[in-house]
Amino acid sequence: MQNKYVGAHTSAAGGVFNAPLNAAKIGAKAFALFTKNQRQWKAKPLDEETIEKFKENLKTAGIEPRHVLPHDSYLINLGHPEEEKRHKSLEAFIDEVKRCEQLGLDKLNFHPGSHLKKLSEEACLDRIAEAMNITLNETEGVTLVIENTAGQGSNLGYRFEHLAYLIDKSEDKSRVGVCLDTCHTFTAGYDLRTKEAYDETMKEFDEIVGFEYLKGMHINDSKPPLGSRVDRHHSLGEGEIGWDAFRFIMNDPRMNDIPLILETIDESIWAQEISALYDLIGK
Ligand SMILES: [Zn+2]
Ligand SMILES: [Zn+2]
Repeated sequence: MQNKYVGAHTSAAGGVFNAPLNAAKIGAKAFALFTKNQRQWKAKPLDEETIEKFKENLKTAGIEPRHVLPHDSYLINLGHPEEEKRHKSLEAFIDEVKRCEQLGLDKLNFHPGSHLKKLSEEACLDRIAEAMNITLNETEGVTLVIENTAGQGSNLGYRFEHLAYLIDKSEDKSRVGVCLDTCHTFTAGYDLRTKEAYDETMKEFDEIVGFEYLKGMHINDSKPPLGSRVDRHHSLGEGEIGWDAFRFIMNDPRMNDIPLILETIDESIWAQEISALYDLIGK
């Protein structure tokens, strides 16, 4: 039985309460959003009216809170080598988790962080884990969902071992999870294009991280080739990954009941991409 929840990273322009309605318009059963402007450090707190309207619109859209995967700001780097900037990131991160709490959402998706060539990978991962633990202590009810990365520049999270390391160091493992981005997975060097390659990659993921931690996926094709460590998304079927990988995912029960989110480059075709993904079930 396939029980898939596909959506896209929808716009929250004009207010977070618009995101569920934008999702419903394209036939999404899940969605991602930024709960604040992702390019600014500060955001005004969410007021009661906004929160109520968001919850109402979520109901109207027929989308369950557990199928919403908020994404944190791109400015945040929990592994920043400089103390002041790391502290600023941590404060902003805690604020983002609290915003999710207020909206009745149970996950926050984030990129682990970058060492900026000033720290070893391990020292940077330790800083990220420490920031995660502080955040877990200061918040409740929200799972921190670590996204795997392409490994561009000095970004960590491009090896399944990085994700496992962060989970291992987390003091509350019931509130940590991971999100696999297909483009990042592929450009980090894990192939998905044939059934054999897909099975091998997922087996490795299960052995190193474990499917019990998979809380969401980003469904993107890739402009750059396998192992290029470059992060450039493409529309489904237009890039180097191709439709087969998405067919394997849509027919893999391990991806049931979690948000499967498009971050593909042409939002004008998201509705078609969503319905094309559903059409792959049983194929
Ligand atoms: Zn991301
Ligand atoms: Zn992503």
